[in-house]
Amino acid sequence: MVEKYSLEILDRPDLFYQLINNMTDLVFLTKVNPDKSLSYVILNKPAKDLYGLTNESFGKPIQEVLPKNAYHIVRSKYEEAMENKKPIKYEDMVTVSHLPQSSNKEVIYWESTITPVFNQDGECTHLLAIVRNLTEQREKENEIQRIKDRLELVWNSVADAMFTFDKNQNIVSVNRSFEKLLGWTAEDLVKDKSIIFVPEGEKEDLSKIIERVKSGETVTNHEVKRITKSGEIIYFLGSFSPLYNQNGDWDGGVVAYKDITERKKYEDMLKQLALHDPLTGLPNRTYFSQSLKIEMDKAKCSKTLLSVFVLDIDHFKNINDTYGHDIGDEVLKEFVERVKSALRKNDIMARIGGDEFVILVPDLKEKTNVIEIAERIKQCLSSVWQVGITRFQITSSIGIAFYDYPFNLDDKVLFKYADLALYEVKVEGRNNYKIYEDIGTG
Ligand code: GH3
Ligand code: MG
Repeated sequence: MVEKYSLEILDRPDLFYQLINNMTDLVFLTKVNPDKSLSYVILNKPAKDLYGLTNESFGKPIQEVLPKNAYHIVRSKYEEAMENKKPIKYEDMVTVSHLPQSSNKEVIYWESTITPVFNQDGECTHLLAIVRNLTEQREKENEIQRIKDRLELVWNSVADAMFTFDKNQNIVSVNRSFEKLLGWTAEDLVKDKSIIFVPEGEKEDLSKIIERVKSGETVTNHEVKRITKSGEIIYFLGSFSPLYNQNGDWDGGVVAYKDITERKKYEDMLKQLALHDPLTGLPNRTYFSQSLKIEMDKAKCSKTLLSVFVLDIDHFKNINDTYGHDIGDEVLKEFVERVKSALRKNDIMARIGGDEFVILVPDLKEKTNVIEIAERIKQCLSSVWQVGITRFQITSSIGIAFYDYPFNLDDKVLFKYADLALYEVKVEGRNNYKIYEDIGTG
């Protein structure tokens, strides 16, 4: 069958030429002459058009019909194919300008396959070159590469720390800002499922976010804490978006973290300033009022005994007047340190006025415990005070009130009771403590 068709085509040279002239590939059939020179025997139209060849070009040595540059390449490749005794394939890029002096140059990419043909004696008689124009394909590839390079540039230039993860929640890529801010490299993280930069306490929150992203939601402005490679905590505003593959199936997500550590520090500082006394660092009156309500609720719920101590330094004005305001300030600071050393961790001490302090003492086992605490405070204050070279004694008066069954006092009344008890101590000569319930009983 094959034979028959082949013969038919040989009987029809018109059909043969029509066929090869209509090919988009360039066809060059070259004869190897006895003197080893090469000359064209078949050229299709696209091949002729490339070098401006005509029917006159047949039979002439190819160096006479080809441009010099082209000839050198063609000759060396033909020789390589003859030596190798098998087809070779190579690519080259040609810059052509359609107008002389034109800066508008066009690059053409060619892929050539040269097949040597041998006779029975093993001599190469012909070389068939099929040349394909790959320009369109290469331009597409180059364009894709340019887009990829551009995307990579953007990915690595954004200030936010970014990473992508796949549908199995493995990290796929991290950008340069991520590496810079968190110290972890892509190598540390890619394929890491444990997401080591997420603190234990935030893992559940992250799982919840990923569930939302899985269902197609974009989660934005979500505040998160992350750990750097050196163990520091950074605060971020996170934005989590789903990614889909070409079939529209969920394929993981992309995360961007905006560093808000500075803002967070500033907010914390403002909070600290709003709720704390700058001289002693203790909670202030506002903080105390909030805490008192919370502690009263807790005590009511757990039916435990809560007590409030109000302390006021005795004759503090004298310290200021005698030694100056600065020494007075030092005394206030040391007063806080001494009193704190007599307290438990859960007790809350606050400064509510010049030399006036409160202590919330929750979870008391019995009422007599407050006496032990008050005695401890007295004891802590009793040793000689020394600020610079100045030595003196400091005492304090303490009023105490309880919040207990039936837990029906309000916070203001509770505080007033403790304050009334304090007043009693002042009246009775200071440097002592009194429980509100005992007022009037001596
Ligand atoms: P008493 O025994 O009755 O409490 O007498 P006192 O002198 O302590 O009187 P009082 O508690 O009314 O006086 C508190 C003084 O504390 C008045 C004020 O000048 C002083 N003071 C208030 N705030 C500060 C402060 O931040 N630093 C210093 N050094 N003194 C302060
Ligand atoms: Mg005082």
